[in-house]
Amino acid sequence: MSRSGAILCIIDGLTDESFRLEHYPHLAAMRLTGAWGEFETVPAGFSAESYPCIATLLGLPGPQLPRYARGYLEALGAGIDLACDDLVLRASWMLLDQEGRISGVASPPKPVPQFTDANYYHLGDYKALVVLRGAAGALKDITTYPPHAHAGRYLAEILPRGDKRLAGLVQQSRVKDRVLIPWGQSVPCSLPLFHPQAAAVGGALIVQGLCRAVGMELHTGARFTGDTDTDLPAKTGLALALSEKNRFVLLHINGADEAAHRLDPLEKTSFLRQVDQKVVAALQGAPGPVLVCADHGTSPATGKHLRDLQPFLLRGHNLEGNLGTMPGTAAKKLLLEGIRWPSRS
Ligand SMILES: [Zn+2]
Repeated sequence: MSRSGAILCIIDGLTDESFRLEHYPHLAAMRLTGAWGEFETVPAGFSAESYPCIATLLGLPGPQLPRYARGYLEALGAGIDLACDDLVLRASWMLLDQEGRISGVASPPKPVPQFTDANYYHLGDYKALVVLRGAAGALKDITTYPPHAHAGRYLAEILPRGDKRLAGLVQQSRVKDRVLIPWGQSVPCSLPLFHPQAAAVGGALIVQGLCRAVGMELHTGARFTGDTDTDLPAKTGLALALSEKNRFVLLHINGADEAAHRLDPLEKTSFLRQVDQKVVAALQGAPGPVLVCADHGTSPATGKHLRDLQPFLLRGHNLEGNLGTMPGTAAKKLLLEGIRWPSRS
């Protein structure tokens, strides 16, 4: 039996209306020569977002996932200090069309407006975090709307509700055709720890935060941008090296999701071709088992996440052929032990 660790490669936002495995020769070859199937990645009661879907693929059951963790996990990934009574939200700069409808992501205005009730942290591109100090008690009253899930809606329809400070923040942010929309409200929380010893390679802040929260050894760096300009060979080489000394390695690739949020189907498919050539091909040389899958789909036509079943491809454990549809929480045992779901033992 191989002593090398297993690699879980998650291609964020992989599928969409026109995705076909056959368009990507190395993914298609994995299907021909190994085992394949589909995962249900979205836990009950959650929307199709990276945090709950990746946590599911790491084997964490939905009922054990904190409901309100998104903003907190990104703050953890970004190294922002928080007190336990702080309220943290992700926030996205969005473009408005002439009618005031959400029409895509935007870069922040320069300078960024001042906010009276919140600390603002820019995370790059359209992404930001806002922290309302000492406001954790307001969490249960707040309703927000992830703007990427509500493209085409009027701003007035998706304003945060339940706390005047958030509605005020949106008003203060508005400059000409762009606006900052907070969502993913959260408070500091804890997640179940991941076993066995594991390492993670990724640049997206949500993944960095999630990996830290579950106790994985995180490997990141400036070359890992969490977008289509990331250094794919370096990430893959690092994941392969880490699999020599860890039982489990998570390799997260985020660019396809970002290109789809930018409503750019050509950028998305060209990035996926790079992933196929530089990541999936290189992973065929891994000494241990390899599982390639996705957390959710992301449509480059609408910019929205898709909660469809996600394909997986497994190389290892002498498994071949169609393993069918499984809950995403089965991914870890399938990869580490070759145990199908339901277990035959
Ligand atoms: Zn996304």
